[in-house]
Amino acid sequence: MLFVVVKKNKRGIHRRNSSRANAPSSASGTRFAEAAACLAEIGRGFHARGWVLGTSGNFSAVISREPLRLAITSTGLDKYKLTPAQFLEMDETANVVRGSGRPSAEALLHLAIARGVGAGAVLHTHSVWSTVLSGSHASQGGIALEGYEMLKGLEGVRTHKHREWLPILENSQDMIELGQRVSKTLRESPGIHGFLLREHGLYTWGAGLQEAKRHVEILEFLMEVLVRSGAAQSA
Ligand SMILES: [Zn+2]
Repeated sequence: MLFVVVKKNKRGIHRRNSSRANAPSSASGTRFAEAAACLAEIGRGFHARGWVLGTSGNFSAVISREPLRLAITSTGLDKYKLTPAQFLEMDETANVVRGSGRPSAEALLHLAIARGVGAGAVLHTHSVWSTVLSGSHASQGGIALEGYEMLKGLEGVRTHKHREWLPILENSQDMIELGQRVSKTLRESPGIHGFLLREHGLYTWGAGLQEAKRHVEILEFLMEVLVRSGAAQSA
């Protein structure tokens, strides 16, 4: 018993000393905590909108670039009661370096996007609208969004005349293979703001969390408009 107490004390002293001596580690801890709190709030909001029901969807934010570190949802969580404690920090190979549990199954896709477009945050939803459209338009390889005022909510878009191409990728449970296709799509379609996985959902991103959240809201809005208006049938 005495041994355990001494050991705990030693660990505690060591941790305090090392965090004081190692400012980047402490700063990274703060960035992780802030990102987890923000991601949890965004996730609960998306659940309230019906975009991540059940345990669907996953969210991440880049904590550092060199080396690449992401805060990401651990797997199998009900997004309705998402808390900051349910986030993990993972490295560039999806190994957990902070927190306990496993990252989302789709962690490799988040890494592919963080690398491919330099995104600061990646958000993934499973809405009714993205599920319907990604099925009905799969044979066309994507969906064109054009003429809508709400397009101006996408970063860099200044006019409703902008034509946004939302590629549709065939769904897969092989995340290594799918991650490679995601990277290829990002290379071949520079300037896109998101893509769909067939009958699965939407991936979008942003330089930061607020931009990524805005992109989810804009793209989900536009997909809902397409389905509700019937425009998707003739597109
Ligand atoms: Zn998913």
